[in-house]
Amino acid sequence: MKKRLHNPNLAKIHRNYTVEEVSSLYGVFKGTVRAWIKSGLPALNDKRLMLILGSDLVAFHQARRTKNKQKCKSGEIYCVRCHAPKKPTGGMADYRIITEKIGNLEAICPDCDKIMNQRVSLSKLEQVSGEITITLPQALRHIIESNQPSVNSDLKRE
Ligand SMILES: [Zn+2]
Repeated sequence: MKKRLHNPNLAKIHRNYTVEEVSSLYGVFKGTVRAWIKSGLPALNDKRLMLILGSDLVAFHQARRTKNKQKCKSGEIYCVRCHAPKKPTGGMADYRIITEKIGNLEAICPDCDKIMNQRVSLSKLEQVSGEITITLPQALRHIIESNQPSVNSDLKRE
């Protein structure tokens, strides 16, 4: 199945768009817009309202138009502005919780100094991160630690 490509210039770079506005602008379902966000379109999450920058929309659709889209290897995050996977500056990224299972990996692009975003499910975090040092929110660190089986209990003697 061929992916539908959209005209990058539909969006005005100095505007912000809600998911609803993007969906009517491009004539797609809101779910499609959310899928774009999932696949790397940066969105500002202001409480319940998601805002998408026009300039990000343009960059995102331009990136989609370029053929042979490069895939991220582990340790890389896709930069929508550079149109390429990048190793984050300093080898560091922050993980922000979105839901219990899904979060956003945020890092700085070494080439354009802008924030790169990538949706990552918690279960795949390790696989995606590679050599990246990921800063987890305090709450999550606690969950992960408490889920880890205690080494001592395995060594219990009878
Ligand atoms: Zn970049």
